[in-house]
Amino acid sequence: MSLVVVGSMAFDALETPFGKTDKIVGGAATYISLSSSYFVKPVNVVSVVGGDFDQDHVALMHQRNISTEGVQVKENEKSFFWSGRYFNDMNSRETLVTELNVLGDFDPIIPDSYQGCEYLMLGNLAPQVQKTVIERLTERPKLVVMDTMNFWMDIALDELKETLKLVDVLSINDEEARQLSGEYSLVKAAKKIMAMGPKFLIIKKGEHGALLFNEDKVFFAPALPLEEVFDPTGAGDTFAGGFIGYIASTNDISFENMKRAIIYGSAMASFCVEKFGTERLKNLTQEEIENRVQQFVNLVAFDTVLQ
Ligand code: AMP
Repeated sequence: MSLVVVGSMAFDALETPFGKTDKIVGGAATYISLSSSYFVKPVNVVSVVGGDFDQDHVALMHQRNISTEGVQVKENEKSFFWSGRYFNDMNSRETLVTELNVLGDFDPIIPDSYQGCEYLMLGNLAPQVQKTVIERLTERPKLVVMDTMNFWMDIALDELKETLKLVDVLSINDEEARQLSGEYSLVKAAKKIMAMGPKFLIIKKGEHGALLFNEDKVFFAPALPLEEVFDPTGAGDTFAGGFIGYIASTNDISFENMKRAIIYGSAMASFCVEKFGTERLKNLTQEEIENRVQQFVNLVAFDTVLQ
């Protein structure tokens, strides 16, 4: 099954209670493509970087069968830069700097070899660019999943709402769901957001797991209680990569299969947070992934008899 991933490729500078990093490789498309590469081959990325981007990282992507044919390189410009600081509970963070640089006027190009893809993952990026990608695909994919964040709700809400009309699944965190809907109750928020376009809504709640909504149905998956969480950056994107990767590898877009995909997404995210940046996602084994999924299954399996 073929997968196209769109999103930022970035340099990030992070501060967590455990330490600080200088500029390290990050970005939504980076995390999504690494995570989904454990499920689908090839993963086809659409993005843009500056001449300063880390070539070793691009080589790593190629090793993992991630195609960068759709990644434009603007030699004389700088890559997107984002800096964030996590609070003590690691569940919330503040953005310190967002420098769009090459993302500012990004005009996505879809290589011919990407056309006809069955699955599309629109990672965090300007909503107008996400929409342009959908429009430039000659055939509509079987499933379009989109991620976004408060930054775009603040500065491009109208474009965001236009893009939402075109997607099947939206993945956002609880704070963003509340901001987008104006509702505190996540159940009410879900109803309002699904009325904006997506038939399925995933609400991520950090260390408290994720909810999947569709019509009147709701499914909850916990996050694995981990001894050490070093850096939650990219967890949401890694989750999305595992989710779409699992769906593409099983080629089944039913609600029942999405429940399993949520567990795979959560398992991938649980690896991501164990080290800074993309470090932990570089060389996982299938065995490690299956063991982690089994830990999730064990975590919530219980016998009960209703009286
Ligand atoms: P996550 O922790 O999954 O929400 O994603 C973190 C990644 O999102 C970082 O690696 C950033 O480079 C990237 N990011 C942050 N802000 C933006 C933005 N406004 N547009 C696109 N990507 C962003």
